[in-house]
Amino acid sequence: MKSILTAIAAATTLANAAFAAGDEMNPVMTELKDGIYQFHMAHYSSLVAITNQGVLVVDTNHEFRAEAMRAEIAKLTDQPVEVVYSHDHFDHSRGGQIFKDEGAEFIAQEGCVELMSRDQENRVVVPDVTYADEHRIELGDKIIDLKYFGSSGGQCQSVIQMPEDKVLMGVDWHLPRFLVSNARLNTHDYVGALNTLRRVSSELDYDTVISGHLEHSAPELLPEELAFVEALYAAVWEGLQNGKTVEELKETVKLPEFDQWLFYKENLPAHVERMAYAIWHGH
Ligand SMILES: [Zn+2]
Repeated sequence: MKSILTAIAAATTLANAAFAAGDEMNPVMTELKDGIYQFHMAHYSSLVAITNQGVLVVDTNHEFRAEAMRAEIAKLTDQPVEVVYSHDHFDHSRGGQIFKDEGAEFIAQEGCVELMSRDQENRVVVPDVTYADEHRIELGDKIIDLKYFGSSGGQCQSVIQMPEDKVLMGVDWHLPRFLVSNARLNTHDYVGALNTLRRVSSELDYDTVISGHLEHSAPELLPEELAFVEALYAAVWEGLQNGKTVEELKETVKLPEFDQWLFYKENLPAHVERMAYAIWHGH
């Protein structure tokens, strides 16, 4: 067990120490910049921007987590809260009712309305403010920009950036040094994620990064993650052009420069498969 934990820690020094430590059920509110916080709990992160005109929260990620986040915000301010959704997936978008009951507005890319209405458990507050390509929120002294760069982690994905504070939040398309399992990957638009990573890298300015799942991220992890997705794309594309089947590619594609990433060995074939079908189907 110790050697496993040592290996995990070595692979994810920056990215994910808390994952190995097993203290994920503690709610952790971290001030990243003046008035800008990351709320992290249960392998999910939310951005919390606190101003003298109100509070903006990105993602609620389940009822128990929203409740814990509400309690942490109440320790800092009594300003009213509004909610932004990073994307449609229910594990991120469920749990907002506690804020709805206080009168919160819910903001998302326009494609989210229909997708979020599909929740059979009816636990997603459907957004009441939507946008198509870009949306700027000015709240007190803070600016929060939402940008739709196409689908990636979800179909109605917003890239969240605070341009003046140079804060970037990436949810599901930004999960560096970590290969998620097939169950988490099967609706991931890998070609879209590549496009998003390329555009974020070339168009946006940031010195502070929040990952929707990891407790710690950093700007220098973005180029590394882009390099991984570029390499995966190139290998799968080449194989498909040479007539290889997806099953053959799952067995033969290796990306040894990334073999220290968490769950590389276990989950690389699933990533090869998802990339192949994203190329095949267009998403
Ligand atoms: Zn996710």
